[in-house]
Amino acid sequence: MKITASNLDQLAWEKMDGLLPCMVQDASSGRLLMQGYVNQDALQTTLKSGHVTFFSRSKQRLWTKGESSGNTLSLVSLTADCDRDAVLALAHPHGPTCHLGTESCWVPETQPVASELIELERTIAERKIALAAGTPGKSYTASLLQSGIRRCAQKVGEEGVEVALAAVAQDDDALLNESADLLYHLLVVLQARNLSLSDVVEVLRSRRANP
Ligand code: AMP
Ligand code: ZN
Ligand code: ZN
Ligand code: ZN
Repeated sequence: MKITASNLDQLAWEKMDGLLPCMVQDASSGRLLMQGYVNQDALQTTLKSGHVTFFSRSKQRLWTKGESSGNTLSLVSLTADCDRDAVLALAHPHGPTCHLGTESCWVPETQPVASELIELERTIAERKIALAAGTPGKSYTASLLQSGIRRCAQKVGEEGVEVALAAVAQDDDALLNESADLLYHLLVVLQARNLSLSDVVEVLRSRRANP
């Protein structure tokens, strides 16, 4: 259920003694950032201000994340879970969310596969913006984009062939490295055409038998 100022009272406040757990997820990467507790006041403040606000059990008062550090969480949406006793806040973080200086309060054992690709795509997008602004620096990505769509497309072809050759040669080390090259150049050629990984995922999703 999407939480709005007018349906706040429908959450399971009584069952939870007025305090619900609230998970915060990065709206872009999907990464889980932090968890806190919210009362009705905290959610009202979050909706009104657009900054994720909790009820601090140690301070016994409302606490807007980032109020002293500046590392705020810009709200995208608030939703309640199936039985309305837990809240999910999608947000855009400004700076590291954990007070220990990391992006997330959880350090994953391994970075999820998708988020590594999303991070790479974001880096490529930054290089493209820098190039457009006339400050490409010494970036290989910027020079590749600068050289045009034909060159970007040619690299995809080359790396594709290298992947195929490594596979046939049963050289797993080369296969992994050439696959990394291919994924990178694929992301570059997509960016060069103003397309993204999520556009590709959309196509994959539409092909699934049971979406
Ligand atoms: P901030 O809200 O970022 O200005 O931080 C103020 C204080 O809130 C910090 O000194 C911590 O005690 C606490 N704090 C900040 N971020 C977190 C977090 N992600 N998880 C738990 N406590 C936090
Ligand atoms: Zn629940
Ligand atoms: Zn933390
Ligand atoms: Zn290669």
